[in-house]
Amino acid sequence: MKFKCKNVLVYGLGDSGRAVIKILREKQAFVSFFDDNIKYWDYVGFEREPQNKNYDLVIISPGIKCLDNPLLQVFKEKKIPVISELDFAYLLSKGKIIAITGTNGKTTVSMLTHKMLKTAGYDAFLCGNIGLPFSSICEKTTKESVVVCEVSNFQLETSIYFRPNVACILNIKPDHLDRHGSFEEYKKVKGKIANQMKKHDVLILNLDDEEAKKMVLHKKYQYFSKFPIKKGVYVSKGYVHINRKPVLSLQDINLKGEKNLENVLASVSICSHFNIFPKDFSLAVSTFSPASHRIEFVGQKNGVTYIDDSKATNVASTVACVEAFKDESIVLLMGGLGKEIDYSELFSLGYKLKEVVCFGKDRDSIQNCADKFGYKTSSHEKFEQAVCYSKTVAEKGDYVLLSPACASFDEFSGYAERGEKFKNLVLESVDEKN
Ligand code: ADP
Repeated sequence: MKFKCKNVLVYGLGDSGRAVIKILREKQAFVSFFDDNIKYWDYVGFEREPQNKNYDLVIISPGIKCLDNPLLQVFKEKKIPVISELDFAYLLSKGKIIAITGTNGKTTVSMLTHKMLKTAGYDAFLCGNIGLPFSSICEKTTKESVVVCEVSNFQLETSIYFRPNVACILNIKPDHLDRHGSFEEYKKVKGKIANQMKKHDVLILNLDDEEAKKMVLHKKYQYFSKFPIKKGVYVSKGYVHINRKPVLSLQDINLKGEKNLENVLASVSICSHFNIFPKDFSLAVSTFSPASHRIEFVGQKNGVTYIDDSKATNVASTVACVEAFKDESIVLLMGGLGKEIDYSELFSLGYKLKEVVCFGKDRDSIQNCADKFGYKTSSHEKFEQAVCYSKTVAEKGDYVLLSPACASFDEFSGYAERGEKFKNLVLESVDEKN
């Protein structure tokens, strides 16, 4: 696709949109941009009435909501081509593309896969939903490169060209139903990851996930599982195997919880399509630590252990965290801005929870649901009150888990700010820090 002298509108001015604008200007396109947030109105190049203009192309950022978007409807009626930022970067990149999607674990698997490839000496890039737009690195790639791209539903929604050579669907659980309308629609968008894949490309699926295992959307696919299977990647006799060959000892994995084992299996499955020796798998896995706010040990006070899992913004990720500590006595901090997901998916599982401490905007629905399943609960309007209260109820040997199952935007700018606040409140008084 040529951009020189083309009239292009970039819709969405986050990091991705800005990276696109920079490249388009270098390529001498006529660039204007638009964002629903009017704080950008005075920027030179801001187009205030894009609905009244014509464009050769519109490039849309992942942050833009597509469902019932009137501007996108106008472009459709005018037959103006709309592509995603992911498409744009893909069209300009060279080398192999790995795409990782799923409801939970994307960042962990993307980081670990990248680490495995780097350890084995590949010219690997890590980008996408992880915080570094694909567009900001696409022009640095060569045909030897391998791009590990974390892909969210928001990026897939408007993608039409993006073609990964290896794609992985980790799991599919209800999330973002507020934006996608229904679970069916959410699943349909996830499936778009395989739309452009060609004969030799491979789709990797989690056999242990009810929904992901059914996403056989491409002829060449490979399963991974925590249990022995005939082909693919699986665990047997204490080792991760690739097609019956042991490649990694479970003892090398120092990540907590069953779901993190699935994450390791996903990364090994992806990397089984590259040349990686068992020693590289071992080194990468044994020295890997996940990004902050994902089942992160914060500290201990009076024998109480505090865990920051602020990134758990849906019910399935909270289940993963509770499961990882199922043998402990748990005080669970849950709340924030709910996503219309049913909390009984957690409370019906029968985990031992000493108390569910609810906070924020969705605290009533969480509390009502936990009450129905007979759990002891308490309710606090503000996050800080909830954390301080949890410190008073936790006793020696208990684990206080911040694993909210909700977004944070009712009180914070994002999950990271919420996690940092938790850490600060806890670290005011801990004996041992991480
Ligand atoms: P994502 O990028 O998809 O949001 P992360 O790796 O950042 O995923 O993890 C987000 C949350 O989900 C964390 O709370 C983490 O503990 C939990 N989690 C990680 N991997 C999985 C998984 N495979 N299944 C369910 N939950 C997971």
